[in-house]
Amino acid sequence: MFNFHSLSSSSSGNCYLIETNETKILVDVGITVKKINTELEKINLSLNNIDALFITHEHSDHCKSLNNIAKLYNIPIFINKPTFNALKDKNNIEQVNYIKSNEEYIFHDLNIKPFDIPHDAAQPFGYTFKKGSKKISIATDMGTISQEALKALSNNNFALIESNYDINMLNAGKYPYYIKKRIASNYGHLSNNQCSEMIAQLIQKNTTNFMLGHLSVNNNFPELAMETIKSELITNKINLKDIQLSVASNNCLSNNIIIEK
Ligand SMILES: [Zn+2]
Ligand SMILES: [Zn+2]
Repeated sequence: MFNFHSLSSSSSGNCYLIETNETKILVDVGITVKKINTELEKINLSLNNIDALFITHEHSDHCKSLNNIAKLYNIPIFINKPTFNALKDKNNIEQVNYIKSNEEYIFHDLNIKPFDIPHDAAQPFGYTFKKGSKKISIATDMGTISQEALKALSNNNFALIESNYDINMLNAGKYPYYIKKRIASNYGHLSNNQCSEMIAQLIQKNTTNFMLGHLSVNNNFPELAMETIKSELITNKINLKDIQLSVASNNCLSNNIIIEK
C-alpha cells in the first residue's frame, strides 16, 4: 500500500497523510487536533496511529496544532532547525529531530527527502516520499517555479502542487496592496497560471498525476483553478487524457490517491 490523502489544503489550513502498510506520516498540522482526528476517522485512523510528523514551515496554516499534538501525543517531529526556532508556540515540544534539505531519511519502509522551496519563511521545505520505485511529492507555498522543486517533482507517480490564486481575483480583491504584493512575489505563492506552467514542464519529465492544493479561499476557487490549468495545458498541446488532475478540498478529506494497492 502506498497512498496519499489530503485532510485539508488551503491558505487557512494544511494537513496531508502519506500511508503505507507499515507507516503513517502527516505532513503539516495546520488544522486543529479535533479536525485532524475527524478527517482521519473517515479512513479508520486517528492521531494515535500516526508514526511521525514532517513540517514544511512555521506559518500557522501548517503548524497550528503542533504544540497541542506534542502535549497530547508522543509522535516524533521532523523539522529543520530554522523552522523550529521560528515557531511561536512550542512550550510543549520537548524534543524534535532536525532534518536538512536534499538529505535522504529512511523511516520504516519510506525514503524521505526534503527539498528547498522559495517562500517567505525561515527555511521552507517540500517533501518527496519514495517507497521502492514509487514516488509522491508535496510542494506548496512557492513564490516561483524553482529548479529544485522541478527536479524533486520529476518522475513522480503523484504530486500535490500549489495553485494558490487567480491573478485577476487577487488584483481585484480586498487585500491591502502590500499583501497582494507579498502573495504574488517570488517568495509568496504560486498562481493558477504558474501552476499550469509547472505542470506542463513536469509532464515532459514523466509526472502525470497531479492534485491542485493550497487554494486561497479569497482569491481562487476549485472550478476556476481547474479550468485555468486545463485550458493552458490544451494551449500547450497536452492531451488531457494523458494526465490525471484533481483538486484538494479546502476543509476536508479529498479523494484517496492510491499509488500502490
Ligand atoms: Zn501555507
Ligand atoms: Zn506559508
